[in-house]
Amino acid sequence: MAKSKGDKKKDAKDKKETRPKEQRVEVPTSAALRVGPDFSWEDVDERATPGWDGDKAAAAVHLAARADELSDLQERLYAHGRTGGDRSVLLVLQGMDTAGKGGIVRHVLGLVDPQGVALRSFGVPTPEELRHHYLWRVRRALPRPGQIGVFDRSHYEDVLVTRVRGLVDEAEVPARFEEINRFERKLVESGTTIIKVAMAVSYDEQGARLRERLERPEKHWKYNPGDIDARVEWPEYRRVYAEAIRATSTEHAPWHLVPADRKWFARLAVGELLLEALRGLELAWPTADFDVAHELERLSASDDLPH
Ligand code: AMP
Ligand code: MG
Repeated sequence: MAKSKGDKKKDAKDKKETRPKEQRVEVPTSAALRVGPDFSWEDVDERATPGWDGDKAAAAVHLAARADELSDLQERLYAHGRTGGDRSVLLVLQGMDTAGKGGIVRHVLGLVDPQGVALRSFGVPTPEELRHHYLWRVRRALPRPGQIGVFDRSHYEDVLVTRVRGLVDEAEVPARFEEINRFERKLVESGTTIIKVAMAVSYDEQGARLRERLERPEKHWKYNPGDIDARVEWPEYRRVYAEAIRATSTEHAPWHLVPADRKWFARLAVGELLLEALRGLELAWPTADFDVAHELERLSASDDLPH
């Protein structure tokens, strides 16, 4: 039987009542995205939205609603660093070309004060960088206390692209994994929270994004003929990515696999990971190292001075 107008209205009202505005929604948490030593690409669906059952519009609203908290927590971290604290956050973004690393920087890190963000993109090493150990350029780019460091690519390129292109001796790779684990452990011990994100774009979606870069003149600047050289090595990249993730997903610095065919999901997910990490620091505002009441008195007294 068709519902009367009144019934429909009542249904809508019931729905509203069972879904109040402030109700906590399911969000993609680190637990939902974390991958470990048993990681396999077979378990990955690049279009999935683990931990989130809303749509694109809801995700944008959700991320925007998080902006204030993200910004507040980032300011606490910055204040902490300016007053002698040792904590920092390092977000490591890895992924094939077009996975959306730049979009994360713009849409997620763009929500906080740029003064507190230290962004570094790692490309083909310069001659100077090549003269040093592969971690040399990474150490120089680490976030200082109080900063959120963002690596667009990272030391992981030295166990990824270098393997695919035969730039590293295969026999040396297990030692590099160990070295990276030790390096990250030291970082964590010295106060850095590391968030490692592997952004997974599918082969088809990458094809579509590269095509768009070629077909739209305003996107030509993003295109690099080398992107195709990497694309044709897709199975090799999958293999080395899986090996690197399995070998370096540690308790102190686990990997998160973020499905990235839906850009809006990747942004939402990384936003949540960052938020979780910042909340975990439990930073209070630094207490004044001066006598506040006395300073207020001095300020008041200064008001009437000739000026
Ligand atoms: P993009 O991130 O699109 O600007 O591209 C940077 C390029 O630099 C990518 O093709 C990376 O694979 C490459 N790259 C980054 N680190 C290394 C490295 N250590 N050795 C060789 N190539 C690298
Ligand atoms: Mg590129």
